[in-house]
Amino acid sequence: MTEVGPAAGYAALRVRVRALCADFPDAYWRDLDARRAYPEEFVAAMTRSGLLAALIPAAYGGEGMSLAEASVVLEEVNRSGGNVGPAHAQMYVMGTILHHASEEQRRRWLPPLARGDLRLQAFAVTEPEAGVDTTRIATFARRDGDEYVISGRKIYISRVLQSDLMLLLARTAPRADEARRTDGMSVFLVDLRETRGAIEVRPLRMMMNNHVNELRMHDLRVPAENLIGPEGGGFRCIVDSWNAERILIAAECVGDARWFVERAARYASGREVFDRKLGANQSIQFPIAAAYAQTEAADLMRFRAAALYDAGQPSRAEANMAKLLAANASWAAANACVDALGGNGFNAEHDVERKFRETRLYQVAPISNNLVLAYLGHRVLGMPRSY
Ligand SMILES: Cc1cc2nc3c(=O)[nH]c(=O)nc-3n(C[C@H](O)[C@H](O)[C@H](O)COP(=O)(O)OP(=O)(O)OC[C@H]3O[C@@H](n4cnc5c(N)ncnc54)[C@H](O)[C@@H]3O)c2cc1C
Repeated sequence: MTEVGPAAGYAALRVRVRALCADFPDAYWRDLDARRAYPEEFVAAMTRSGLLAALIPAAYGGEGMSLAEASVVLEEVNRSGGNVGPAHAQMYVMGTILHHASEEQRRRWLPPLARGDLRLQAFAVTEPEAGVDTTRIATFARRDGDEYVISGRKIYISRVLQSDLMLLLARTAPRADEARRTDGMSVFLVDLRETRGAIEVRPLRMMMNNHVNELRMHDLRVPAENLIGPEGGGFRCIVDSWNAERILIAAECVGDARWFVERAARYASGREVFDRKLGANQSIQFPIAAAYAQTEAADLMRFRAAALYDAGQPSRAEANMAKLLAANASWAAANACVDALGGNGFNAEHDVERKFRETRLYQVAPISNNLVLAYLGHRVLGMPRSY
């Protein structure tokens, strides 16, 4: 398939990521999936190469890439057949750190992150009672001298056991009236090495190889100097990470979708059933072609959203649309691929079923497609709110 348009851009970066991924073939990811193991070697290679510090500015020892470039890194890992999920959070949270941390905080935390001496791979927002209504979170941070004392419960928090630092959203004031429901939340950088038993971590087994946990925090003491942004203004700080996260997830989905489309097209062009190539049947060929078209369209929105984000312009609608379109493209491609492979689509040796489970996540998390549609309906099109 010839690459033109945005997909053809960033050629040198794509070559660099593909070279790294060549050391982590299908068999590597298949084995990890079977053992539910964390890809330590892959994350170490990403760190050594500097790619994990893609979004950290050069002044703090990182690569200083744009979000568009960082998104290409994640896309290429997923396109290679891997799953960059275990390593992506450090990129997501950079929006919050770069825009809202003080200069002192950036000087303290970014250089060790860029060197790989510290890992910031955990981002704790979701709570069992609040669900997608983030304004209902109940985890509370009470000021006590030069510390905050945090208690509460979080669920589905990824990579807490593989991370040194965790960005945490907590209430510092009770939820006010509807109009000011996003006020009173604050963001903290929690040093997990210093939690001294104040966080109970319960690992959860998920559909895919994702290291997810339930957290119970009991009087967790965090120095006040670890508050990121203004007390009570945390929601705005988190939104910056969410926009980056949605654009980066869109790129991961584009990578998944391209992997599925390429696998499906290759398989359908090779296998013969009823004395004809499988791909000559339009019921096999058309869904693959349709998924390809969806992927290319989603890719355009992903680069448009990234360009707005990189230019410091509002990108929330485009980031949401990129995530929605790309998640739907990868899901369409995943289904077309399974249908083309028949029984082999379900056989772990062919890797399709693993990628199928991995890409299914993006219909629901980090934001569900329903909530994206609700955002577009309410905030962009001005229709009545459904919640
Ligand atoms: C593998 C995995 C990793 C994750 N990692 C993290 C992490 O690192 N950090 C973190 O903070 N969270 C994480 N999450 C949580 C994830 O972001 C949430 O699961 C997701 O946002 C959905 O929230 P919920 O499960 O509470 O769903 P609920 O709020 O219980 O909602 C259930 C379903 O109903 C839909 N729904 C709810 N209200 C409406 C409505 N008004 N209209 C239409 N549909 C609606 C939701 O979209 C969802 O699909 C992870 C989840 C998974 C599965």
